[in-house]
Amino acid sequence: VADEGVPLERLVRHPAEPLAEGPPRHPRVKPPPALFGTRRNSRGVEFGEAASLAALVAERDAAPPLPPAPRDATEGEAALEVARAQSAFRAWNATPVARRAAILRRAADLLEERRGAFIAAIQDEGFRTLDDALSELREAVDFCRYYAEEAERVMAPVALPGPVGESDRLTLHGRGVFLCIAPWNFPLAIFLGQVAAALVAGNAVVAKPAPQTPRIGALAIAALHDAGVPREACRLVPGGPETGAALVAHPAIAGVAFTGSTATARSIHRALAAKDGPIVPLIAETGGLNPMIVDATALPEQVTDDVLTSAFRSAGQRCSALRLLCLQEDAAERMLAMIAGACAELKLGDPRDPATHVGPLIDAAAKARIMRWLARLPPGAREIFRHPAPEPGNFLAPRIVALQRPEDLTQEVFGPVLHVVRWRADGLDGLLRSLAASGYSLTLGVQSRRAGFAARVAAAVPGGNVYVNRNMVGAVVGTQPFGGEGLSGTGPKAGGPHYLLRFVSERVVSINT
Ligand code: GLU
Repeated sequence: VADEGVPLERLVRHPAEPLAEGPPRHPRVKPPPALFGTRRNSRGVEFGEAASLAALVAERDAAPPLPPAPRDATEGEAALEVARAQSAFRAWNATPVARRAAILRRAADLLEERRGAFIAAIQDEGFRTLDDALSELREAVDFCRYYAEEAERVMAPVALPGPVGESDRLTLHGRGVFLCIAPWNFPLAIFLGQVAAALVAGNAVVAKPAPQTPRIGALAIAALHDAGVPREACRLVPGGPETGAALVAHPAIAGVAFTGSTATARSIHRALAAKDGPIVPLIAETGGLNPMIVDATALPEQVTDDVLTSAFRSAGQRCSALRLLCLQEDAAERMLAMIAGACAELKLGDPRDPATHVGPLIDAAAKARIMRWLARLPPGAREIFRHPAPEPGNFLAPRIVALQRPEDLTQEVFGPVLHVVRWRADGLDGLLRSLAASGYSLTLGVQSRRAGFAARVAAAVPGGNVYVNRNMVGAVVGTQPFGGEGLSGTGPKAGGPHYLLRFVSERVVSINT
């Protein structure tokens, strides 16, 4: 405290129950239906009553088993799907925006009606916990309703000021066939968020789900078709990187929305730049090294709770997840002991069990990548805590790894591994400089009771989403528009008021009346 010269009485007061109610839902998003019996907050969905949880679990368990995964599309099939989408573009683009928005709202209703099947699919194909599956379904529903509302707002024609005797009008239109490439970690919400935005803006869509989660993608596209999106205007193309590359290279693609690794975003960017013909925009949301800077005035109980959620929820498989915890030396020992103690109580196990906090990783390759990192930690780094659970199959027990310096975290470790560095008051500026130098800018956490500390950190370290005295995951549509810059992506922010603007082309018509 002394180094900032802030008198004690001016310390930020800690609210008794921080964020207990969570951020307010976006007023334009329909309130959750009673069956969720829940409220959405920064920790995802909380269950209001045990009865509603039991009802949800029963619906999930009554869902038919997942169909076999669709076969990967060949290059020829992928091209055919682009051609089909292209054939539907004009009519869909000419459909009034109010009609397209109404279809999205209907799709949101269908997602809710089919919640049992969606929850089952997210859990059985994506290995997500029940809590994650519910909040993901909630987010997908929110995306549909939010983009419906936004489309009606931003796509309304604008009469521009002009000379007497002239009418000048700005209108927004779909660009053509938009290619949407989604990750496996939000197999419904991110997949459908991209597709819904592209469609409501007037584009036809070719959607490639992640190769690990094509059946969730198929269910989502079926809901869109059933809601009224013309079948030809929205095509599912399952497949891996080769299919993705073939789609990116297709001459009829007018825009690409991609969420995944920075390396893949770069290769898409290069492939688009190498194409002849129109210049094709890329919307990319990629990874982050996501630090949380904690000073000695932070409330240890809150830090513990927020670190656990940020680092280990979804087994750390969120691009928003906390990767690098930066603790002020004076409080580090005590806070680490609390974090490790609380972490040991997390329950690893079957994601279908409502009591499970941490399920398995998505696949063996994901585990192998993390094990490689752990086997070759940077010099001086060491594992200081490991959750005691066994690690059969794709399970990975949460770990805490102490690093010597922030620069030692050289890659996004996409799993339940929390890295920790310590800093002294006279080294804060150096710490902030090295964090800024990483080039990533996705989420940034700050925990402090000092007035001005968060602002000082946020001014020095870029971060697309800055979270102060709370956890760093679970951005809410319309409340925390989500996305980064630099190595973390191109923007715009998903679930925010500017997102749709990157999916459109603009036209001004000037008429001499
Ligand atoms: N929007 C998610 C969150 O706030 C993260 C999305 C991602 O992992 O790609 O936690």
